[in-house]
Amino acid sequence: MTKPQSWEARAEEFSLYGFTDMPSVHERGTVVVTHGEGPYIFDTNGKRYLDANSGLWNMVAGFDHAGMAEAAKAQYDRLPGYHAFFGRMSDQTVMLSEKLVEVSPYDRGRVFYTNSGSEANDTMVKILWFLHGSEGNPQKRKILTRWNAYHGVTAVSASMTGKPYNEVFGLPLPGFIHLTCPHYWRFGKDGETEEEFVARLAQELDDTIQREGADTIAGFFAEPVMGAGGVIPPAKGYFQAVIPVLKKHGIPVISDEVICGFGRTGNTWGCQTYGFTPDAIISSKNLTAGYFPMGAIILGPELADRVEAAVEKIEEFPHGFTASGHPVGCAIALKAIDVVMNEGLAENVKRLAPRFEAGMKRLAENPNIGEYRGVGFMWALEAVKDKATKEPFPASLSVSERIANSCTDHGLICRPLGQSIVLCPPFIMTEAQMDEMFEKLEEALKKVFAEVA
Ligand code: PMP
Repeated sequence: MTKPQSWEARAEEFSLYGFTDMPSVHERGTVVVTHGEGPYIFDTNGKRYLDANSGLWNMVAGFDHAGMAEAAKAQYDRLPGYHAFFGRMSDQTVMLSEKLVEVSPYDRGRVFYTNSGSEANDTMVKILWFLHGSEGNPQKRKILTRWNAYHGVTAVSASMTGKPYNEVFGLPLPGFIHLTCPHYWRFGKDGETEEEFVARLAQELDDTIQREGADTIAGFFAEPVMGAGGVIPPAKGYFQAVIPVLKKHGIPVISDEVICGFGRTGNTWGCQTYGFTPDAIISSKNLTAGYFPMGAIILGPELADRVEAAVEKIEEFPHGFTASGHPVGCAIALKAIDVVMNEGLAENVKRLAPRFEAGMKRLAENPNIGEYRGVGFMWALEAVKDKATKEPFPASLSVSERIANSCTDHGLICRPLGQSIVLCPPFIMTEAQMDEMFEKLEEALKKVFAEVA
């Protein structure tokens, strides 16, 4: 086998890329990353980039937190791996479950571990199917989510994800129902107030449940703020309107906090920011500050009791992954929670969120930015051809991709999502780094809008 010469060519020859626009890779090459410092990453050419996406939302403590690496090393030295089957589990797993219940909105609960957010959502669906089946409701299997939601890529979580790209896989599977995305600016009708929009969505939910039959619906999953859908905070009063409808019909509410959890919205949980208490929480990404692949499901007291009763009846919950509750992952998660909550990271998000918002507001004065939106340390700008009518640029112009590419050229990583540009930097970001982010993005906006206007 002869290897091609450059890192870029080697990457392209031997890797199958996920979620990557291949014509753009063929034209621009691959950024091959070697190391990181704080919120910066470096490529094989020694070029430095401010990663305003925290990797994939998850590297909240930056790329070189010494304490994190030490916690991992100490655990690798003690017990480098173990499972959580057959009545055995590591001490770290026990401690992390206690910690997760302690920092959750619940006074009691039960935790189950996976390797990723997708698996956590899949597992939660299986928990609901297992629970309803054991309670004599095996027909209670349908799952409610929303258009534009992102819940993962495994067959079930991809079916929950409300994105057209899943059609290439023949997904969603039957029984996954997508409701209207609660984005008022884009989906509010002409002349409709935000209150009316929310009432319409609550009515749509009620109508859907009546049409399908409440006794066929297993649960409702929602991200407090939609992340990969383009950073979409819910319309005002959305959860206060839909949750009573779900409660009325006895449908469990699951908060997918894979992005929002552990401080991204300014509180520990996104559901706290939006004033609701779900029946269970899905966590991943920030759970380990991105230093280990791990997901967790935290069942609140009611679901925990019901699931426990179901397990007692069947004598086993027949589910789990080889690396569920991996001791190194748990040790890293314990350290990450401590770092985020006790080393000033969560505080930094709260302190700098108003400055972040002010910067976004200023950038949104650009005539080709239709909306700025977000909360805490997750924000988006939406590009439009016409600010007054909200008419988007033609997709063929790839405006958001061009803006992101121009940023990359100048050492800033941000993410194009639909017609939006998304910023979700590490929680350690300083004022100066925030200014650097805004300056570079502003340059890119000016350049690209001048080209396409
Ligand atoms: N849920 C949400 C809200 C997510 O943002 C993601 C990942 N972006 C997932 C689930 C899936 O997580 P993973 O990529 O770890 O499978």
